[in-house]
Amino acid sequence: MTEQKRFGSARGRGREISTRLVQSGVRFDTATGALSVPIYQSATFAHPGLGVSTGYDYTRSGNPTRQALEEALAGLEGGYAAYSFASGLAALTAVFLLFKSGDHLLLGEDLYGGTYRLLDRIFSRFGLTADYVDTTDLAAVEASLRDNTKALVLESPSNPMLKISDLANIAQLCRGRGVLSVVDNTLLTPYLQRPLQLGCDLVVHSATKYLGGHNDLLAGVVVAGNEQLAKEVAFVQNACGPVLSPHDCWLLLRGLKTLAVRLDRQQENATMLANWLREHPLAEAVYYPGLGAMLSFRLRDAALVGQVLGKVKIISYAESLGGVESLVTYPLLQTHADVPEDTRRRLGIDDRLLRLSAGIEHISDLRDDLEQALSQQ
Ligand SMILES: *Cc1c(COP(=O)(O)O)cnc(C)c1O
Repeated sequence: MTEQKRFGSARGRGREISTRLVQSGVRFDTATGALSVPIYQSATFAHPGLGVSTGYDYTRSGNPTRQALEEALAGLEGGYAAYSFASGLAALTAVFLLFKSGDHLLLGEDLYGGTYRLLDRIFSRFGLTADYVDTTDLAAVEASLRDNTKALVLESPSNPMLKISDLANIAQLCRGRGVLSVVDNTLLTPYLQRPLQLGCDLVVHSATKYLGGHNDLLAGVVVAGNEQLAKEVAFVQNACGPVLSPHDCWLLLRGLKTLAVRLDRQQENATMLANWLREHPLAEAVYYPGLGAMLSFRLRDAALVGQVLGKVKIISYAESLGGVESLVTYPLLQTHADVPEDTRRRLGIDDRLLRLSAGIEHISDLRDDLEQALSQQ
């Protein structure tokens, strides 16, 4: 195991998070001093002799590039350990695989449609049951917990209505009832919110979004708050195998370095767009919590939706969020198509709702683009 000490740990706890983001992976490869962590594109690792290992055996079980990424992510979220996966849904799958037939999960009702689909269409086949609740209402959460409830899984801000839940009180409530609290932190990232430090047990990310940040990578992350959960997630990662490839680990490490500057600019753009839309005569409602770079807005007329999606020139009409390029999404037909109709109606996901992910373009170009897309000429 002494061989593994060739790699230093660059977690650097205690420094400002923007510094730690940039330093992700730096000083990891102490053998060569490579500033950018090398891509260890190797499926397997030779053993020096019987019963001797370099610390790496086979890439599904462990890979230096992945280790550098996972150590950086664990440090950023303030977790015990982090695990990277081939996509956000692969990370959520790993979390759901911690449970067994007969267990019950409680979920936030306003959440990524794919999470709903995964439970409703896949895990239900294996006897895992799920209910959905408005997690902004602590009393409703408490009333929905059952004797066999094993975890509460939520997004805050929620998606696409961007409602905020009280993570610290939810974590406390769950802990008192022996229920794991799991937060999908995709929308805010550890730069803006660290659920483990608020008492939650597990954090999940679609790193495809802000952590990667360039609309060029699919990745997922699970961060465990304690050793026991870390062991369980590590076991699932190795036993089921949906790991992130070394090359994609490197892309994600590179993305992490600029997260703070990207998100500062994206948040500034989102705030200005939300304020501008609030004054716009064709926008009926704007949903922006004042944090992060996602906003949703409802147009006065459903006919405007097609017009806007067809006329935007800088903002792309595309499913996803979090990248440097601004995107607009139609949740009803895209991200939330699999959510049951009555839930969608109750939440306000209707044929007039659009979701916007602010990128880092110049604000006046984004505003002009929306203005021309909304104008009837
Ligand atoms: C996109 C997304 C996911 C799924 O992630 P993939 O990387 O697309 O598999 C999960 N949760 C949230 C909040 C998302 O936005």
